[in-house]
Amino acid sequence: MLLKNFMVNQKNNLKNIKQHFLHLAFEQAKKNLGKTKNNPSVGCVLVKNNTIISSACTSKNGRPHAEFNALKSYKNFKDSVLYVTLEPCSHFGKTPPCTDLIIKKGIKKIYYAFKDVDIRTANKLKKTLKKKTSILKR
Ligand SMILES: [Zn+2]
Repeated sequence: MLLKNFMVNQKNNLKNIKQHFLHLAFEQAKKNLGKTKNNPSVGCVLVKNNTIISSACTSKNGRPHAEFNALKSYKNFKDSVLYVTLEPCSHFGKTPPCTDLIIKKGIKKIYYAFKDVDIRTANKLKKTLKKKTSILKR
């Protein structure tokens, strides 16, 4: 019985942690709300050992994307967790796909709040990452 309660608490803690960092990703997205032209204002937060190591939002005028901005430094992102408000893109548009950069940087998990409605990207993340990364969606 005690073990069962402990496991429930662990599960609740994980849910709270995810919600906390996704909330912070939304706080990032707010920074450029209404300033990103046709692209949505996206926010993301990178977490390693429960510490935020980078965060960013979509640049003004819509590019670069939030993920690129958060990952462009030379920090060691290996095994960090990416919390992002929108499913990362996996298509070549005016910029290369953020998914490729996410893989290259060794991110171990991605939590995103919303699926992209853009058909070039919608639901493609999971397939793209399947081999290299585990993915969980809120
Ligand atoms: Zn992108």
